[in-house]
Amino acid sequence: MDFTDETNTSFIKQKIGELEKMTDQDNPYTRIVFSDKFYEARAWLKNEYHKLGLLVSTDDAGNLIGLLKSKINTHKVVIIGSHIDTVPSGGRYDGIAGVVAALCVVKYIKENDINLPFNLAVYDYLGEELNDWSISCIGTRGMTGALNEDILSRSNSSGNILKDEIDKIGGNSKSLTKPFSMIKNIVACLELHIEQGKVLEKRKIDIGIVRSIPSISRFSVVVNGQAGHSGTILMDQRADALVASSEIITFVNKLALRLSKESNQHFVSTIGKINVHPNAAAIIPGKVEMTVDLRASSKSSREQYIKELEKQIETMNQSGPCKIEMKNIAFAPYVEMDKELVNLFKVSTDEYGFSNIIMDSGAGHDTAHLSRVVPASMIFVPCKDGLSHCPEEYAEISDISKGTAVLFKMVKKLANHIENYHNK
Ligand SMILES: [Zn+2]
Repeated sequence: MDFTDETNTSFIKQKIGELEKMTDQDNPYTRIVFSDKFYEARAWLKNEYHKLGLLVSTDDAGNLIGLLKSKINTHKVVIIGSHIDTVPSGGRYDGIAGVVAALCVVKYIKENDINLPFNLAVYDYLGEELNDWSISCIGTRGMTGALNEDILSRSNSSGNILKDEIDKIGGNSKSLTKPFSMIKNIVACLELHIEQGKVLEKRKIDIGIVRSIPSISRFSVVVNGQAGHSGTILMDQRADALVASSEIITFVNKLALRLSKESNQHFVSTIGKINVHPNAAAIIPGKVEMTVDLRASSKSSREQYIKELEKQIETMNQSGPCKIEMKNIAFAPYVEMDKELVNLFKVSTDEYGFSNIIMDSGAGHDTAHLSRVVPASMIFVPCKDGLSHCPEEYAEISDISKGTAVLFKMVKKLANHIENYHNK
């Protein structure tokens, strides 16, 4: 049985091609959650579910579900999901590849009349991308009870309230502050996603099996110096906040490089946002605000990083003319994927003879939220030059097909597991 045959490959190509037309025409590829184009894409997806004979529903978190019921009477469910929303001027594959792959798996199972001891559900998780309400992964946070009244009551720049949008799309914003009762029935949540990095492409590897999703920390660093006339204050009389900041930027970069090598796990840190005051050509910078972004799979490396950065700031405060303050402003903990599912993904990939590695994700995903409460795991397929969240984003259909075949084999293996378990 060859899953990566012409029928499946052309199905995947066709569906990605249909979805990419549903974009803000002036700004491809833009399909922001709750926008008209998003509603259009959801209507399209509903129709795809109907064509496959799936039971269509929207859950309280606004996730769009297509359910293939098992022939036996069971509440157990395996979910294959990702997202069809995009960032502004995003790509055609991020999230989309995963939803189309899920459709393809279900189609194959239907057409070949394969019996499963669980229901199989395709999920379009609502609003995975960071949006105008400053929240990502609305659908999976909702399922796992991670949305609170404060988040749900937020307004976007047009004054629209998040909970109203969730209700309008078919959700029920009143029941999102505790985990859904259905999660006890979930056997596994599986996701295929493009890598959004260069590891697989560079090493010519077919499949990345994700072992962990890193912790994400953000710190604000404020450097207080003294503004002054750039012509009259002599060099040894200055407290230039930007000069001190540049020292921190270089320090952070070197520290992260060293720790990433030492830990041999995913470890990256970036200062990508900086405000200089008063930001004028003839004035010595008096104050600088920066945001430090840190993503780490290793807890000890993260702690080491914070310790060394704090020490550096302390030294600069004692010996230099500026006063520097650092504060933690956001933190999402590191999560590990379900070990048994990671192992099953490995076996499934090996059986096809596809090259693979176990790797850490760099980006956050819906699967990170799900993995806190249910068995969940994901795989990556290569994407060109590691580009993502931009119109140039590209993945080969043949690579997505390989990943889709692995998803199919996973479903089969989970089915065998459960049947063996029942026959014991
Ligand atoms: Zn995504």
